[in-house]
Amino acid sequence: MKTFDHVVIGSGIAGLTYALKVAATGATVAIVTKKSRADSNTAWAQGGIACVTSSEDSVALHVKDTLIAGDGLCHEEVVRTIISEGPERIAELVGLGMHFDERTAPDGHREPDLGREGGHSKRRILHAKDATGLEIEKTLLAAVAAHPSITVLENRIAVDLITTGKLGYAMQDACVGLYVLDEASGTVETIRTDVTVLATGGCGRVYLYTTNPDIATGDGVAMAWRAGATVANMEFMQFHPTPPQGKIFPDYRGGPRGRGDPDRCTGT
Ligand SMILES: Cc1cc2nc3c(=O)[nH]c(=O)nc-3n(C[C@H](O)[C@H](O)[C@H](O)COP(=O)(O)OP(=O)(O)OC[C@H]3O[C@@H](n4cnc5c(N)ncnc54)[C@H](O)[C@@H]3O)c2cc1C
Repeated sequence: MKTFDHVVIGSGIAGLTYALKVAATGATVAIVTKKSRADSNTAWAQGGIACVTSSEDSVALHVKDTLIAGDGLCHEEVVRTIISEGPERIAELVGLGMHFDERTAPDGHREPDLGREGGHSKRRILHAKDATGLEIEKTLLAAVAAHPSITVLENRIAVDLITTGKLGYAMQDACVGLYVLDEASGTVETIRTDVTVLATGGCGRVYLYTTNPDIATGDGVAMAWRAGATVANMEFMQFHPTPPQGKIFPDYRGGPRGRGDPDRCTGT
């Protein structure tokens, strides 16, 4: 039986970021991932990341735009935290080697080539051409590969969480590991850990039409539910790109459209 201090299920931006941060404390980490390590929604994200980086912009303005777009459904404190911490997270990515597009300002200095998207009153979208997510995924995977205490277990499908409750122990319920199907051997492995992080992305693939890749089947939500966790906000589902009004959403069941298709998405 394999044992790690932390096991992260998922190798998108969330799982890779967590693994890097916790490995920096000296912990051993396994990243369990369903297919190859780059298979994720992250690798398909195109438009970019909204973040306050310009002197013409402010955290207050970004918060205001977000609360308006959220139409009364946002938790303001969460919005404020995410937006105010954005520049620090971007700096971390840049520190790992991520390169966002730049342009030359009228006075000659180099500055981020910011895009402007729906709902934003200022230009604040950092991007790497229209393959921002792919560049982020590559950057994070390179950092993970260079870290000696992170093990990436590919083609392993996390099947279920092991909890003390399921094992029949008379104690407060806790997650103590997970079962993982090794696709190559067809066997189920048991992994022991005190910290299991679900970073399995969304469940767009449960819908008939979606641009989400095959991996997005909501496995983490299902595992959390079976382990007794509270599941919330499942009604918030992004369909991307948004179809023009009155048009039927095109059939994307074959997978996300290739970059360069005439009506490819340009952002979120
Ligand atoms: C076409 C498209 C365009 C987008 N454009 C943008 C954009 O411009 N800007 C933006 O901010 N967002 C965009 N998004 C959304 C963004 O990609 C996601 O919100 C983000 O990448 C989610 O990251 P994540 O790490 O949570 O999940 P993911 O990147 O989906 O990673 C999930 C990981 O979990 C793994 N996994 C799942 N189930 C299991 C299992 N049972 N066992 C083992 N591993 C498992 C998967 O293999 C994968 O590695 C876009 C999404 C799509 C599909």
